[in-house]
Amino acid sequence: MRTDAHLRARGLDTLIGNTPLLAIACNYRGERRVVYAKSENLNMTGSVKDRMALHILQQGYARGTLTPGGLIIEATSGNTGISFSAIGRALGHPVAIFMPDWMSQERIDLIRSFGADIHLVSHEQGGFVGSIRLAEELAARTPGAFLPRQFSNQDNCAAHERTTGPEIWTQLRHLGLVPDAFVAGIGTGGTIMGVGRHFRRMRPTVKLHPMEPASSPTLSTGHKVGKHRIQGVSDEFIPAIVDLGWLDGIIAVDDGDAILMAQKLARELGLAVGISSGGNFLGALKAQSGLAAGAVVVTIFCDSNKKYLSTDLMREEPPRDGYLSPDVELLGFEAIGRSCTMCADPVEEEPGRIF
Ligand code: PMP
Repeated sequence: MRTDAHLRARGLDTLIGNTPLLAIACNYRGERRVVYAKSENLNMTGSVKDRMALHILQQGYARGTLTPGGLIIEATSGNTGISFSAIGRALGHPVAIFMPDWMSQERIDLIRSFGADIHLVSHEQGGFVGSIRLAEELAARTPGAFLPRQFSNQDNCAAHERTTGPEIWTQLRHLGLVPDAFVAGIGTGGTIMGVGRHFRRMRPTVKLHPMEPASSPTLSTGHKVGKHRIQGVSDEFIPAIVDLGWLDGIIAVDDGDAILMAQKLARELGLAVGISSGGNFLGALKAQSGLAAGAVVVTIFCDSNKKYLSTDLMREEPPRDGYLSPDVELLGFEAIGRSCTMCADPVEEEPGRIF
């Protein structure tokens, strides 16, 4: 269906998805390793959430639940708010965002820069869960409002099942590889559930490991416990779209270790990624340790470091006993191009590993 919104932002989908896959080589505890990471920092607003936001809005139009000019209202820890604010504006919608008040200043400023109304929600007002309740309340009293409901909307998973998963599969095929495991921190869980569905359809034995901060094991306990600095994951509850019984073992990563790893990726390889990307990289190394030598483990670089310039990512992080990152010697990477999801049968290059 074509709408005015489509005419306002033609080819919007060419700015989102089809990101490169990086094959990152390192030495880790005496072994040569390669970790595959999808560069989601290269999306339109710089995060993986653009895929979900675009797909949910497209589905909203297709089903008639989103109408031209309708107010888009979402609760988010940041990246989703940035994605809906930018893509919503591109399509001509006003946007209202509810967000806990402890997220980075960059997130708040970016959302404001897109002209969205931002409502910061304190711990006393209920934090994350309070943000969701307040978003629902505003929608209930606003005619024509559209609630993407990223934590419970299966279109979130479908975005990754249709794009991220097939793209990674195709990119690995270029190298003559198939994935043995996929590791991703859970915010809404859309990424791991959607990529996981595609991977399991293609290869039922593939392992799917959620990564969570060791100091705040929401997935392991079922509720908010402790505090952590890996913004964007492990919010305060297990989202409705996540089926932990279908996923494999949870991998815990220390937030300080994730920060050190993200710093190392930027400093040593020029890969400017956010804190959850550092955590995902370490989670992938951990998953690989439990698999046969040379196992193909894939993860996600969810966003860039630019939203963390005011956070501990830019400060000196003290290493602690048990951290993995000091044992990682990064050697280099190869970027595997932006392949087209529709190219089901890519030209096979020299099969085998590239490092
Ligand atoms: N990392 C960051 C920085 C994020 O913003 C998010 C999304 N909240 C995630 C990881 C997790 O992605 P998902 O919501 O698909 O689980």
